[in-house]
Amino acid sequence: MNIPSATAETIAEGARILRAGGLVAFPTETVYGLGGDATQGKTIARIFEAKGRPAFNPLIVHVADRCWVADLAEADDRFEKLARAFWPGPLTLVLRRRAGCPASNLVSAGHDTIAVRMPDHRVALELLRGVGRPLAAPSANASGTVSPTLAAHVAASLGDRIDLIIDGGPCPVGLESAVLDLTQTTAMILRPGVITAEDIARVIGRIDIAREDPAAPKSPGQLASHYAPSLPIRLNATIGAAGEALLGFGATARATLNLSPGGDLKEAAANLFAMLRALDDRGKFTAIAVATIPATGIGIAINDRLERAAAPRL
Ligand code: AMP
Ligand code: MG
Repeated sequence: MNIPSATAETIAEGARILRAGGLVAFPTETVYGLGGDATQGKTIARIFEAKGRPAFNPLIVHVADRCWVADLAEADDRFEKLARAFWPGPLTLVLRRRAGCPASNLVSAGHDTIAVRMPDHRVALELLRGVGRPLAAPSANASGTVSPTLAAHVAASLGDRIDLIIDGGPCPVGLESAVLDLTQTTAMILRPGVITAEDIARVIGRIDIAREDPAAPKSPGQLASHYAPSLPIRLNATIGAAGEALLGFGATARATLNLSPGGDLKEAAANLFAMLRALDDRGKFTAIAVATIPATGIGIAINDRLERAAAPRL
């Protein structure tokens, strides 16, 4: 498949395809997104089909500007404060859909809520402005597998099912956005990210963190098994057993790869998915052992992804 680099011309071509109802993968600061016009129901149905994503798992709608949200959702004071503080950036806000919201009901998986975010990436923003409409853009990979942080990851996972991949290099943040539910009196974190609970609480005061009921997760996408490579994952490893790849952090001895030799959580987040993919090689290894990641700050989001990657597969 042809994977053009991001230029004014290829972004304009992507915008044309999206307006016509096609699917275009593009870089954001978090991971590559599989974009489709959020207002075209047929296009959104194609996104679910291409990813093999369960229909109960709603999609995040991306906007080029905070003011685009007025059409889509009931935005309150907390929304304004958070968008001003963190947008563009890796924070998704779940709001009530507005009456007459032009986004397809499929993006909301039939609920009366909608998740919105403004990405902090030049290519994503130019594409959004070129289309002039909000774009649904889940991670551009097959549902349940490791998220893509390079254009080549998208090609390997979905290459034959989408119309264009725009290559904008590696995604600088490397972990999906934090998802915050603002539809209740108390704001609730549904998915941790590099914008932490403490960061959010500083702006709007008290928040809760979703306690998950695996039978009925609050954020339908937060399934126990997700982000899974094909090899099994073993957590909190100090040494790699025979046959295992060892994914280290900080001073881990004899690591096959190290998320951050200097122990920097931001660097570890940016490397996580690409390194899991690099070690996911059945020809060389029997499993991937992962060193302990401190459960503070960004480490909470990294551990969230690792626990799901290690969970029993469906
Ligand atoms: P992805 O698009 O693959 O990054 O996944 C999006 C995440 O946001 C999933 O965990 C979804 O379940 C969650 N999400 C999207 N829309 C909503 C919504 N309306 N209510 C609650 N969670 C949502
Ligand atoms: Mg995903």
